[in-house]
Amino acid sequence: MTDTVVDTLVVGTGMSGLAHAFWRAKAGDTVCVIDAADRVGGVLETVHVGPYRIERAATSVPSSASHLFALHEALAEPPAMHPALPAAKAQYLLGKTGLRRVPRSPPTLFTTPMLTMGQRIRAMAEPFMPKRRIMNNQRTETLSGFVTRRFGRAITENFLRPFTNGVYGASPDKLGAADAFPQLTAMEQRHGSVVKGLIKKMGESKASGKKRGKREIRMFEEGTEAFPKAIAAELGDAVRLGTAVATIEPGDDERPATVVLANGDRIAAQELVLAIPARAQATLLGPIAPEIADLLNAVPYVAIAVAAVGFEASRGPKVPDAFGFLRGRGSKARILGATLNSRLSPHVAPEGHELMTIYFGGSEDPGFLDESDAEIRRQVLADLADALGGRIHPDVFDIYRWPRGIPLFAPGHRGRMAWAQSQLSERRIRLLGSHVTGVGLDSCCAPLAPLRAPLPPAVARV
Ligand SMILES: Cc1cc2nc3c(=O)[nH]c(=O)nc-3n(C[C@H](O)[C@H](O)[C@H](O)COP(=O)(O)OP(=O)(O)OC[C@H]3O[C@@H](n4cnc5c(N)ncnc54)[C@H](O)[C@@H]3O)c2cc1C
Repeated sequence: MTDTVVDTLVVGTGMSGLAHAFWRAKAGDTVCVIDAADRVGGVLETVHVGPYRIERAATSVPSSASHLFALHEALAEPPAMHPALPAAKAQYLLGKTGLRRVPRSPPTLFTTPMLTMGQRIRAMAEPFMPKRRIMNNQRTETLSGFVTRRFGRAITENFLRPFTNGVYGASPDKLGAADAFPQLTAMEQRHGSVVKGLIKKMGESKASGKKRGKREIRMFEEGTEAFPKAIAAELGDAVRLGTAVATIEPGDDERPATVVLANGDRIAAQELVLAIPARAQATLLGPIAPEIADLLNAVPYVAIAVAAVGFEASRGPKVPDAFGFLRGRGSKARILGATLNSRLSPHVAPEGHELMTIYFGGSEDPGFLDESDAEIRRQVLADLADALGGRIHPDVFDIYRWPRGIPLFAPGHRGRMAWAQSQLSERRIRLLGSHVTGVGLDSCCAPLAPLRAPLPPAVARV
């Protein structure tokens, strides 16, 4: 028996599922969003430990996150956001001899003492490097291969590797260039060079009169979890928590897709959206699409962990005024990097206290997550002492492990996801989630058109 019929049924109340449900409801669809968990937000969770406010996953977004800001503006009661304190502009690299400020703009990149004269000349030659033709749409080049080919190995090792390890927990040798940063490879294909593509883009936005907004980092005043909570509040009764899916039945030209819940209830929909991690999608799709389930089961995720370290400012070295630092070339540290939360927001730690988030593990060191809490604490504090030039005596040291934290966009990943979707569109099923659209919160918020035309009302009501 069909208990409920809706236009869009979303499984998963992470950022991807809620954003999609919100945009579809705004467009006039009847929606239902369900989640096996008893809270919304997925990996986004803001917790209070001692006097500190800690994020388990995302802490901030760049001002270029246009989809996220569009969604934020569309909310009737958007949670307050604020720009990060001015310190956020500085970023450091931890090298052999402590922290060094990262060059932020192309001119400073090309004059930085972190590169030899020969390495700078090689990087500046990028516009003259030949374009690689992509045969039969084969995009198998790794990100490190692409950047080394265009800018030289020194740029890969000095800047790219610390960046992808620290921000995505992934080695650039494991990421696909066109999968992780499709805009970079598109610039090479369209303009013959990344630098030429960037210049062209700047020229176009100038000509269109579009003002380049201030580039800054923004964050939620009450913590990141306030965002999914606010979206869920606007969706109201459409959100059902603690609701596990038992099976799914695909739809077609004549039938809506249907989910059967663990309690036997059925919900039929013009479009069934699976906004859950790849393995959870594979479990539901296994009985009806085994080939796609195999492909989803094989999507690699990076094991990463975060340690929130809070301390009285007087019980540790001076913390630099900066967004954070990344482990750079030559460093013996095992941590991947740190975000200096209390340098960015006045809302995360009391006056006279510091809070930082340390990232470790990642594709190059997944075993770090298996260490005991005591060993992790010892290693993190030792690495921080090297970076900051003095020992921290924390009053909070909170470890959180994500064994499958961040999807890894390996070479060919986007093509495989597109193929899977092409097989499922006919059956009124959509795959969503950060492993499909992209890792940052902004990609999770992009509005998407319906997969296909709605069924005639009489059929949809069956
Ligand atoms: C440590 C870390 C730091 C990060 N930092 C940043 C950052 O600073 N900025 C940024 O932009 N991004 C950041 N990200 C990335 C960003 O947080 C994620 O990409 C995004 O939140 C993922 O949302 P999602 O909806 O795709 O998945 P999820 O958040 O994983 O949501 C999936 C949902 O599906 C539910 N579910 C699973 N299985 C089932 C089932 N069978 N039935 C019903 N429901 C089910 C789960 O309960 C969950 O609610 C970070 C991620 C991590 C891990």
